[in-house]
Amino acid sequence: MSDQIKNASSNVVWHHATVTRERRQQLNEHRGALLWFTGLSGAGKSTLAHAVEEALHQQGCRTFVLDGDNVRHGLCSDLGFSETDRKENIRRIGEMSKLFVEAGTIVLTAFISPFREDRSRVRGLCQHGDFIEIFCDSSIEVCEQRDVKGLYQKARQGLIKDFTGISSPYQVPDNPELIAPTGSETLEACVAQVIAFLGQRGIAKF
Ligand code: ADP
Repeated sequence: MSDQIKNASSNVVWHHATVTRERRQQLNEHRGALLWFTGLSGAGKSTLAHAVEEALHQQGCRTFVLDGDNVRHGLCSDLGFSETDRKENIRRIGEMSKLFVEAGTIVLTAFISPFREDRSRVRGLCQHGDFIEIFCDSSIEVCEQRDVKGLYQKARQGLIKDFTGISSPYQVPDNPELIAPTGSETLEACVAQVIAFLGQRGIAKF
């Protein structure tokens, strides 16, 4: 697959745009960035990503959330859950996010993304400072108790194979930009923490 892609794009010449990322950011009055929420199923990635998006939108920021719903049904509808397909899923999300960031948008992604290697590959695609890894820190016990989608029960019954945290590993980030205590603190506290961080980083002025 990747060889084909490399070959297919070897004769493509970049066209230099006059409307640059810098000009888009000036118009938006904030920087583009990729907020990469990672954590176990039920940790609170989607809830936190959408709540942060709401707060940013209310401040006049241009935002977009990428999650399983809008990615798995479209761009990645041909992919399953094998190791190769999971990697390809994250790669495509990373490439798409990069374009959004280039467009001056604050992108928020909510994927378990259990493997360090996959997350660090996306970090490597981004310009320094654009990739903000946010570990949604919630124990497996709390996630299982929440069991928002009833998936833990199914996984315990052996009905879902390779379920992260049960029958497949989750690799905790070594050095995330932020650890959001989504298993122990309120949603409001976690949102405030993320927003404060974005302000400190100069992504937007609040
Ligand atoms: P994920 O996207 O990680 O699978 P969800 O966002 O779908 O998880 O579900 C997380 C659940 O935890 C929701 O029911 C949410 O209301 C609850 N929750 C409790 N506290 C928090 C918090 N601080 N941040 C995010 N979610 C929280």
